[in-house]
Amino acid sequence: MTPPPGPAGPPSATVVGAGIAGLATAVALRRSGWSVTVHERAATLRALGAGLVLAPNAVHALDALGLGDAVREHAVTLTASALRRPDGRTLSRLDASRLARRHGAPLLGVERGALHALLADAVGPGAVRCGSAVTDLASVAAQHDLVVAADGLRSHMRTAGWPGAAAPTYSGYTTWRALVRTGAPVTEASETWGRRERFGVVPVAEGVAYVFATATVPAGRHAPDGAAELAGLRRRFGGWHAPIPALLDAADPATLLRHDVHALSRVPASLHRGTTVLVGDAAHALEPNLGQGAGLALEDAVVLAHVLADGAPVAQALARYSASRRARAAELHATSRRLGRLTQHANPVVESARDAAVRLTPAAVALRASDRTMGWRPPRPTSRRG
Ligand SMILES: Cc1cc2nc3c(=O)[nH]c(=O)nc-3n(C[C@H](O)[C@H](O)[C@H](O)COP(=O)(O)OP(=O)(O)OC[C@H]3O[C@@H](n4cnc5c(N)ncnc54)[C@H](O)[C@@H]3O)c2cc1C
Repeated sequence: MTPPPGPAGPPSATVVGAGIAGLATAVALRRSGWSVTVHERAATLRALGAGLVLAPNAVHALDALGLGDAVREHAVTLTASALRRPDGRTLSRLDASRLARRHGAPLLGVERGALHALLADAVGPGAVRCGSAVTDLASVAAQHDLVVAADGLRSHMRTAGWPGAAAPTYSGYTTWRALVRTGAPVTEASETWGRRERFGVVPVAEGVAYVFATATVPAGRHAPDGAAELAGLRRRFGGWHAPIPALLDAADPATLLRHDVHALSRVPASLHRGTTVLVGDAAHALEPNLGQGAGLALEDAVVLAHVLADGAPVAQALARYSASRRARAAELHATSRRLGRLTQHANPVVESARDAAVRLTPAAVALRASDRTMGWRPPRPTSRRG
């Protein structure tokens, strides 16, 4: 059973990992009366990454966690999302207010650090133990009613509990990310598609943009330092349309991030084993092409707390979580991979056909297509069974 609060105290959960998934799950469980301890192997709480797009489904999940208004306050409400070619030609432009009307929540750009800090504040200071790497799944599972494995792409918990699960593989392209001062108030997000290269700009705070770039290259061939990485980016993207060259000039090499993109080759067949459950990238690390990894993690947190709220045995509740979340994650995982193939691995013929298809797709059709990714809504609260 989900242990009811009683003389022995509330049911207890251990969360492994204090990224977006772990913190969001801790918030959700604490709101429904669980005693939660989060173990984070890093010495301090920190958010790796620069910025994030939060689509309406992610904003609905944040609302369900009681954090939607706080995040809206720290984020930029995006007014449009455009796709361009390197010479500046627009392939498509989606009015984000139409997206917001359709889905009942805005499209936000936010600094990853701001989102992480809001989640950490909501968990509360005593609940997170930094410098605490969990290595023994069996021992934590024996001590707690629930173990939440939120330890990311290279999840140790997944390896321990799901020995046959697929491992992360290189997706064939690399990314650079940075926060850059724009000097001008911008509210439109854009992505520019070249030949196996992309450049994206997402406003995340007043006068600050999250910029990202991708290129199809062998894994591991990184430059020796940020200055050399930035020089390489200028060679690749310096001739692209404004404001890309100016943004690269404004970037700080000391904070430029470079990561080769790895993703799980497939989502595990089940996201739970007994009373242990996978959330976030540990469950379903996908390629970043949909901007939905953090959104899925927030959804996981909401759904997990929901299935545990009605008093069913924990393992039974986790089976319901697993069935609904696996289907959702597997669909987005596959869609994101297809988009990766179209943008990072296309030959010139496919590339022209792709661009023509994007240009000719009416906005109404693009809006309807967003339902598959952004149409998720939190489950309605159920009353607790006796
Ligand atoms: C280039 C790029 C761009 C992206 N853009 C977007 C976007 O725009 N929108 C979006 O929604 N998503 C985006 N994502 C995806 C998103 O960043 C991830 O899906 C999300 O951050 C995953 O969070 P997580 O908490 O599951 O994992 P992580 O952030 O990896 O957190 C895992 C935590 O677990 C800790 N840990 C690991 N092992 C242990 C252990 N044994 N014991 C204790 N602690 C441990 C780690 O230190 C870490 O803090 C992007 C990803 C990439 C790579």
